[in-house]
This record gives sequence, structure tokens and C-alpha cells, in this order.
Amino acid sequence: MHPLDPALLGIVEEMKESGGHWQPCTGCYDTEDGHPTQRYDYSPALQTDIGCGCHECGGLGAVWWHMTDEQVADFVTICEEVDTEHELKMRIVRLEASLRRFRRAYVNLMEIGRDRIISFGGSCDPVDVMEASDPELQLIDAALAATEGQV
Ligand SMILES: [Zn+2]
Repeated sequence: MHPLDPALLGIVEEMKESGGHWQPCTGCYDTEDGHPTQRYDYSPALQTDIGCGCHECGGLGAVWWHMTDEQVADFVTICEEVDTEHELKMRIVRLEASLRRFRRAYVNLMEIGRDRIISFGGSCDPVDVMEASDPELQLIDAALAATEGQV
């Protein structure tokens, strides 16, 4: 291809302005696991390797790629959705941690209460029995199990 071909004028500028680029045509540029299967020419004008040329690329060996405004907007939306999802996950992790801490403190209070009762000569169920029959603890365990937290 002649470097002064008028068809090539403005290509570099367009790449800069639109953020698009030329890439090897999939119709005539064979790759395996992301690597070209043979040695292809590099086009300094298009700034990409080029295939041998086929009907898909009009014989050029490369195709123009750029994101439309709509595609960019879609991409931004997807990123925001991922962020929201991540934020929700982090909130759940934080809630689970608080709940587990609260659960330990609650059981600890049971132990303290039991020790006092016994020290005053009273009788009291063992802590594991109280733990197993306590409706609040059952609720906490169910909530943690539902969010796949470890009790
Ligand atoms: Zn092609």
C-alpha cells in the first residue's frame, strides 16, 4: 500500500479523535489462543497487523473498531451495576460480621448470668442447652445461614 494513498489520510487523526482503532480482520487473520497462526504483515498506517485480505474487509486485512456513544453508555451502566452489586455484598459481609459479634456477646451474657445464678446457689441449664433453645439465637443463626455466613 502506498504511504501517500489518499484513502489513508486522516486515519491516525480519526483514531485519536474517536478512540477507535483498526484491528486484524477475523475473516483473514487466523489466531489460535489469541496468537496469530502465521506471520502477518504490520500496517504502519492502520497501526495494526493485517490479514491477507478477504471479502469481509474488502481486501484490506483490517476492520475498523470503535465504541458508539450508545455502547459506551451501556458499558458505563454495566460498571455501575457491578459497583452496586459489590456495594450490596460488602454491606452483607459487614452485617454478618456485626451479627456474629453480637451473637458471641449474647452467649457471653448467658454465661455470665448462669455463673451468677450458680454462685448464688441456684440451678441453671448449661449454656449450650440455653443457646439451642433461645429463639433470638435461632433467628440469628437462620439469618446467617440464609446469607451463607458461617455461624
Ligand atoms: Zn479480511
